[in-house]
Amino acid sequence: MPDQERIPAQGPDRWTVGRPAVVPPGRPARILVVDLLGGLGDLVMVLPVIHALHRRYPDAALRVLTHQPGDVLLHHDPAVTTITCAERGGERPAVLAELDRWRPDLVVSTTRYDGIAGAIEELAPQSVTDLWRSPPPDEPVGARYLRILASEHVIAPRDVDVAPRVVLTDAERAGGEQALDDEVRPVVLVPAAGMLVKQWPHWRQLATALAGRAFVAGEPAVLDAWRGGPARLLPPLALRELAAVFAAVGRRGGVVVGGDTGPMRVAAAVGARTVGIFGPTPSARYGLGRFGVDLQGLPECPHRLPTALTEQVCWWEAQCPLSPVGPACMADVTPDRVLDLVPALRSVR
Ligand code: SF4
Repeated sequence: MPDQERIPAQGPDRWTVGRPAVVPPGRPARILVVDLLGGLGDLVMVLPVIHALHRRYPDAALRVLTHQPGDVLLHHDPAVTTITCAERGGERPAVLAELDRWRPDLVVSTTRYDGIAGAIEELAPQSVTDLWRSPPPDEPVGARYLRILASEHVIAPRDVDVAPRVVLTDAERAGGEQALDDEVRPVVLVPAAGMLVKQWPHWRQLATALAGRAFVAGEPAVLDAWRGGPARLLPPLALRELAAVFAAVGRRGGVVVGGDTGPMRVAAAVGARTVGIFGPTPSARYGLGRFGVDLQGLPECPHRLPTALTEQVCWWEAQCPLSPVGPACMADVTPDRVLDLVPALRSVR
């Protein structure tokens, strides 16, 4: 792990890895990556971009502008020189401040709203801001990012097949191991969904089928709802602590089960096998990666819009035209489908 230091705050939320930039002429000395889409999972999906940029330009200073709390996933990552965080609602001023103060030579942005893309294109010597252009309905979002950047010669062609990776310290990994006691092949359930339309109605049934051997991870309110239920509770964990638990699950050959959420992407990014339960979002675009199993409910639903999720009739209010009792696609993924597909689960039945 490189030396790290906190630098005096121009913003209170800045973390830097001290590394001098000695860059050959004609190559970017300062690279800014902007991810202000707002979700933890969005930041995980952009990690391969950050790592590919670092491999292409290892001597450049690489700065990431994002939101809390996902920013902590970048701590200890040797590819990242500095992290800055934008306040929610203050994203455009934060981008303008970075462009004015830090003057990056190259900017890569997942974020276009509120004139952010236009400002970057106007003020940065080189930029890529249209990573969402013409998305094919069956290409994973992260792979699409990489393919566009390679086509524009911003990253190397060999880096189009890079998976997200979160860097943990040895001490963090040790803490994750302790949280799981001596469980040999742990099964961790992540029932929180973030959005009503992504909630899976069969969690209790799955936990009951696992005969109390599964762990539940989540925020305190989630854990309270499971108290006295058919699963063991992990303590409330900070995000990096949770990532370390997931890493321990992966090391022990266990599995993490959950929906299309940021924590599940973190689990995959630290090497845990995952079972992803997908309903309104298409697993072909938002799947959790090659080492997991993604179960798609009602793949034939005619209302699903793989490249325009937020325009789906069900998206914001979870009103499903196919079912009066909740998203039919989520209900379509039965506990047996989860149990049958994953050896680590089968062994505890
Ligand atoms: S319309 Fe219903 S079944 Fe179709 S994606 Fe939306 S919630 Fe799922």
